[in-house]
Amino acid sequence: MTNISEFAVFGHPIKHSKSPQIHQLFAQQTGRLVNYFAQDVSVDNFITQTQLFFENGGKGINCTVPLKEQAFLVANQLTARASLAKAVNTLKIQDDGSLLGDNTDGIGLVTDLVINNNINLLDIRILIMGAGGACRGIIGPILESKPKQLTIANRTLSKAEEIVSDFKECGELDCCVYSDLSNVQFDLVINATSASLTSDLPPIRGNLLANNASCYDLAYSQIPTAFVEWGLVNHASKSIDGLGMLIEQAAEAFLLWHGIRPETKEIFDLLNNQRQASSANINY
Ligand code: NDP
Repeated sequence: MTNISEFAVFGHPIKHSKSPQIHQLFAQQTGRLVNYFAQDVSVDNFITQTQLFFENGGKGINCTVPLKEQAFLVANQLTARASLAKAVNTLKIQDDGSLLGDNTDGIGLVTDLVINNNINLLDIRILIMGAGGACRGIIGPILESKPKQLTIANRTLSKAEEIVSDFKECGELDCCVYSDLSNVQFDLVINATSASLTSDLPPIRGNLLANNASCYDLAYSQIPTAFVEWGLVNHASKSIDGLGMLIEQAAEAFLLWHGIRPETKEIFDLLNNQRQASSANINY
């Protein structure tokens, strides 16, 4: 028997996930033996698969689309940010066998925006599209950065209204449906929908972007996502996908599990170079 620690990312779809590669690179960088794999898990079999994983010696799970709300329900204890978000992307088994749930998405996004991409959130107008688990994870840290305005747009208004109500103590935010966005402009538009996973776009118009506005797609891909393309076509000053956030939220999960935060820049450069090289080989 080896002493390799077992970790996994659960989600559906999961084939595209770069998390196993990122955690292997973190493990190499910090001199740890880690087995981290991706497992296709649906909402219906999440509880069974989670129990099985931890009964068999698993140490931690990352949960991605569409499992973050289920992971919140399965955790025995929550960090303050996961409790506020009502969504969990990182589970850790504790010494007494109980499960701690955390949410590292928000800190991951804000680090990537502010530190890695130099997008200052203070006093700007921000639109978040989508009101699922990812939106819940990012609202708290964005509000802590004191934007001038934070609006959530979602197809299903009731889900956005619930988020506004849950976060009303944390700062000013409002919500609407997409058709209400015809005469407003934003300095930063964040796509927190899962539309990019099927190469779709939320129903938005180009006049949404103020001068020098930035676009950020939480989704990431080998080639520019539909929303990153939309930002470029509509003259965003920056149009970025979620690879940087993925690496930063993974570094926070690694910190929770292993007590050390890996260096992220070298990992971003490596993965970004790899995808540029592979997309150069794609024949359109
Ligand atoms: P959920 O399934 O919880 O929520 C999906 C959201 O997308 C809902 O608000 C849904 O609207 C909306 N939506 C789906 N399709 C469309 C469409 N065609 N037009 C408009 N809205 C649409 O997913 P998550 O919140 O967990 O994840 C969202 C995205 O964020 C995914 O792409 C995921 O990969 C990415 N992500 C990236 C991370 C990173 O580290 N880079 C971390 C976390 C998430 P409705 O409620 O009306 O159905």
